[in-house]
Amino acid sequence: MHSQRIAIIGAGIGGLSAALALTRAGFSVAVFEQSKVLQEVGAGIQLSPNATWILAEWGVLDQTKKAGFLPKAVKISHWRSGQPLGRFPLNHSDSFLNAPYIHIHRADIHQILHQAFRKASGSEVHLGARLEHIEYDADQRVTRLHIDRDGDVSEEEFDYVIGADGIHSKVREYVEPASEARFTGNVAWRGLVPVKDLSPSCRPDPCANLLMGPGAHVVYYYVRGGEAVNYVAVVETDQWQEESWTLKADVEEMLEDFVGWNAQTRDILAATNPDSCYRWALYDREPFQTWLRDQCVLLGDAAHPMLPFLAQGAGMAIEDAYALAACLEQHPDDLLKGTELYMVRRRDRTAKVQLQARRNMKLYHVRNPMVQFCRHQYLSFLGKSNPEHFNKSLAWLYEYRVKI
Ligand code: FAD
Repeated sequence: MHSQRIAIIGAGIGGLSAALALTRAGFSVAVFEQSKVLQEVGAGIQLSPNATWILAEWGVLDQTKKAGFLPKAVKISHWRSGQPLGRFPLNHSDSFLNAPYIHIHRADIHQILHQAFRKASGSEVHLGARLEHIEYDADQRVTRLHIDRDGDVSEEEFDYVIGADGIHSKVREYVEPASEARFTGNVAWRGLVPVKDLSPSCRPDPCANLLMGPGAHVVYYYVRGGEAVNYVAVVETDQWQEESWTLKADVEEMLEDFVGWNAQTRDILAATNPDSCYRWALYDREPFQTWLRDQCVLLGDAAHPMLPFLAQGAGMAIEDAYALAACLEQHPDDLLKGTELYMVRRRDRTAKVQLQARRNMKLYHVRNPMVQFCRHQYLSFLGKSNPEHFNKSLAWLYEYRVKI
């Protein structure tokens, strides 16, 4: 076991992945989470092979598959008529066996990572422990964290700090004070609908179902072994005055954003339990050069918040965690050298994904009917003539395996 005192701020998917990976690499970590209860909001995520092979390495792939759902294809349909345009297979070849494409509820993957960390480390996450302030003592070469527990602030010293505290990261404020997250003009409605609440005709195909309309798009898919349908419905807006970025929201208001959309989509949205309809403001930030200051390093959304248009935020956080642990394991006596290596390995890849997700926003939300028509013709043509196109065009993303 290495002797450095390492703190991880944030116990989201990124923080727990880092905690598990570092524990497996022989480091002992203290994880601080501001929430009093460890839980994730009711929403699903897609995990692609570039992330799921890491779950296999960590020994949690079987549980993840069991808790999630393996889609058969990406199915793209017309937003107004609901008519299928193209179908591109997933999980259909041997290459997906140890690295499947999985749809899963955030709370389920979160719980799997949490249990795996507890089992590997024998430690608990410090809950209700909010990082308020960071101070570096250059003489002592320690980082002092000011941790607030219900108004009670204590100072705790560490040799190394990982900021996995999400898009509005306190650690990022310390590392890169000039960089602010930017509202992208998109909000995402997210919800979960039990399949039993949907009439048989509204139940979607067992695919990642994608529909792209003017200034909006919707994705829906099964989670929890097919017991529930998760949707993400993104719409452009210039109105987001609320300070909070995740809000409980109103189903009727959501339906107003999708007037004119096909019956299946509207029926799924309308079946949302009013208590579990959420609206998220979508932020991102320009990729920035450094993720490191003194002994603090960034990971996940804290390092590279991105639009969900490539379904990769959690995947990138899992890749980061795996890479950081491998780099530190290579330089256990010089963590900063390991961190330099981590940044070199991760910066270009995550920046590429951030920028590609931004480009997808333009493609998904095309308003010009002529351009929309051409896009749909092209997708139909590809679906018939080259169904492997989807996997091939994303091979740079899905077939990537973190190597140090
Ligand atoms: P977070 O999940 O934000 O976790 C940060 C944690 O830090 C939180 O628990 C928070 O409470 C804690 N924290 C914050 N500040 C402090 C503090 N000062 N002190 C202590 N604790 C603190 N990704 C995918 O891979 N696939 C998808 O399909 C996908 N779909 C998405 C759809 C939408 C609409 C959105 C908005 C995102 C989607 N994502 C997807 C992105 C993904 O959810 C995030 O990128 C990922 O969860 C980021 O994880 P994280 O751990 O870095 O940050």
